Amino acid sequence: MNSPAAAVPSEIVQSPLPRLKITEIFLSLQGEADTAGWPTVFVRLTGCPLRCLYCDTEYAFHGGEWWDIDAIVAEVLQQGVRHVCVTGGEPLAQKRCLILLQKLCDAGLDVSLETSGALDIAGVDARVSRVVDLKTPDSGEVARNRLENLPLLTARDQLKFVICSRGDYEWARAMVAEHGLPARCTVFFSPSKSQVSARELADWIVADRLPVRFQMQLHKILWNDEPGR
Ligand code: SF4
Repeated sequence: MNSPAAAVPSEIVQSPLPRLKITEIFLSLQGEADTAGWPTVFVRLTGCPLRCLYCDTEYAFHGGEWWDIDAIVAEVLQQGVRHVCVTGGEPLAQKRCLILLQKLCDAGLDVSLETSGALDIAGVDARVSRVVDLKTPDSGEVARNRLENLPLLTARDQLKFVICSRGDYEWARAMVAEHGLPARCTVFFSPSKSQVSARELADWIVADRLPVRFQMQLHKILWNDEPGR
């Protein structure tokens, strides 16, 4: 059953100033997708209109501090690494996130965006690698998937399923086949921690010879979900 849609505070969505509400900016290792293992600066935007049952970033739903977009870019650059990941929450819930992404690309950085898949990705700068979720039934938010995003995905992008159960796996497997997803972009399947064992999911993928990449989130193995890591 879906949880009721959570509203992102209107002052976040409608801010007229070139600034964004930020929960945290920190240096760590990228824990997932194609750039896993690279030292990466994370820019975590505040707010999310979804309420996935397994969410591990609930602390980003509220609060945060306003930052000028140019100050965010300067903070990222002074960290001295090539990779930056804009994440949340749901970063696209703040419309000026698109400006931030463009400016980070203009600064010569290797930019990725982690998004829930519930909002339109069409306006994202083409230089950005988009890491898009497809929410499974057991996430509680399957009804929020914006399937119109799927034809927009390219080889630069990645699609991510977090699998909570065998039922989720079978649903995801059917979506992969129905939409021909591996021909568009890399598809990742991750086990939802404490719901499906990593080994079980790996065995299912191998048994089905599924053309997807299994992944475990490095940052959870290394730092066990500690905020800011
Ligand atoms: S989309 Fe991401 S941040 Fe939002 S509720 Fe789901 S897991 Fe949490």
